Amino acid sequence: MIEIKKYICIGCPVGCPLQLEHEKDRIREVTGNECNRGAKYARQEFTDPRRSISTTVQISGALRQRLPVKVSGAIHKDQILEAARKIHELKVMAPVEIGQVLFKDFLGEKGIDVVACRSMKRIAEAMTACRTKKHRRSKAGKPE
Ligand code: SF4
Repeated sequence: MIEIKKYICIGCPVGCPLQLEHEKDRIREVTGNECNRGAKYARQEFTDPRRSISTTVQISGALRQRLPVKVSGAIHKDQILEAARKIHELKVMAPVEIGQVLFKDFLGEKGIDVVACRSMKRIAEAMTACRTKKHRRSKAGKPE
């Protein structure tokens, strides 16, 4: 029996309404797409739907309490909740460098890691850098 799945393409702001015709696991046709990216997206959504994750984790020893992180590759849609739970459990210590791997081969997916999206210094180093900057500005006669 032929069935139809409907998707909205997220490839660009146009948001084409896509229709994917399939018979069990076999894709017959994708329609409604203005370009090839839409057909590719519908096929991907049907066979292996994946999502990207960007969030924050707790960090200690830094001036801020949350560190922005992202998963370096898209993960399977069914694993989103588990992924969010595991990332939420992560506790990071400063200093951290942008791009630093915090969790390697996340959820057992080779080459997909949780990485830091910004650098954060240890609090003492950050305070020293801040004081030095203020000192330089006041020496130069600039307001703080
Ligand atoms: S099918 Fe092409 S034109 Fe339509 S939303 Fe997707 S990327 Fe944009």
